[in-house]
Amino acid sequence: MIPAIPFICAPGYAFAEAWRAALQAAMPLERIVALESLDDHARAACDFAIVANPDTRDLATLAQLKWVHSVWAGVERLVEDLQHSPVEIVRLVDPQLAQTMAEAVLAWTLYLHRDMPRYARQQAAGQWLEHDYVRPQEKTVALLGLGELGLASAARLLAAGFQVSGWSRSRRAVPGVQCFAGDEELPALLAGADILVCLLPLTPQTRDMLDAPTLAHLKPGASLINFARGAIIDDQALRAALDSGQLAHAVLDVFREEPLPAAQWQWQHPQVTVLPHISGPTDRGTAAAIVAANVGRYRATGALPVVVDKQRRY
Ligand code: NAP
Repeated sequence: MIPAIPFICAPGYAFAEAWRAALQAAMPLERIVALESLDDHARAACDFAIVANPDTRDLATLAQLKWVHSVWAGVERLVEDLQHSPVEIVRLVDPQLAQTMAEAVLAWTLYLHRDMPRYARQQAAGQWLEHDYVRPQEKTVALLGLGELGLASAARLLAAGFQVSGWSRSRRAVPGVQCFAGDEELPALLAGADILVCLLPLTPQTRDMLDAPTLAHLKPGASLINFARGAIIDDQALRAALDSGQLAHAVLDVFREEPLPAAQWQWQHPQVTVLPHISGPTDRGTAAAIVAANVGRYRATGALPVVVDKQRRY
């Protein structure tokens, strides 16, 4: 009998059983079980596990563990926890997730493009005042990150008529997108942006990357959308840029601490839209099907899916 596959998540995770059931439905020939249900003998037979924010102490109970498949796309904590471990990390790469995120990027880009925060303020003040319309062709949306999510977002933005630029670590060539690469080309990308969209992984290089000197490269009155990770932004620098008018508005879906504590300034700031980490939710059905395909290939051939580069950290 093939060994059971443990599904390991944070203690008390509300959707643990929903995930286990979705994974089981996608892999009827496998047995997907909660880690707690495996005794020492069964744990010793596990060479891989499916995970959602697992506690590394739980992973350590699997002596033969070779790899983990995360059901999330962002795996910075796993990379940190397993930095010096031989256990490989596979993250979720799901075209449905990329499309869902691209839809959010387009939706909130249009929110900024059509000046919705300003008209909402005018309504609150009982002001009937129209502003000039600017066509999307005259606006540049700059994407920080041209990976799975950045590329899908670029396609949607181009189809909506925007000019699109993008930034990555290695040089990319994307039709219709003005591509920038590396730290030295970041100021040029920022200087051309009307709306800056962050879709970077959180790594030692990107942590606090959007600080005061970096934000100062933006055109006065530009806007920011952060759909990646809160710690990429220096919050005090962001607040100062909003207060000075350097930034007109920020749409924030991710924060250093989540849920965003009630006392945090972002909740009340008139130029901030707070979202509760909803820009790119994982679809359990499509994600489970992708995990199932990867597991099936591994069972059949012993080949691991593409693993996270622990040195690069994403
Ligand atoms: P990905 O495919 O790994 O792409 C990452 C992109 O960022 C790549 O283009 C990469 O450059 C670029 N990059 C990384 N480090 C860089 C650096 N130091 N300088 C310049 N560019 C750099 O990742 P993804 O699937 O698009 O996901 C991106 C992030 O979105 C995830 O890590 C996760 O944190 C976040 N996310 C958020 C949500 C949400 O609901 N808010 C949902 C899913 C994911 P190269 O092309 O050169 O490698």
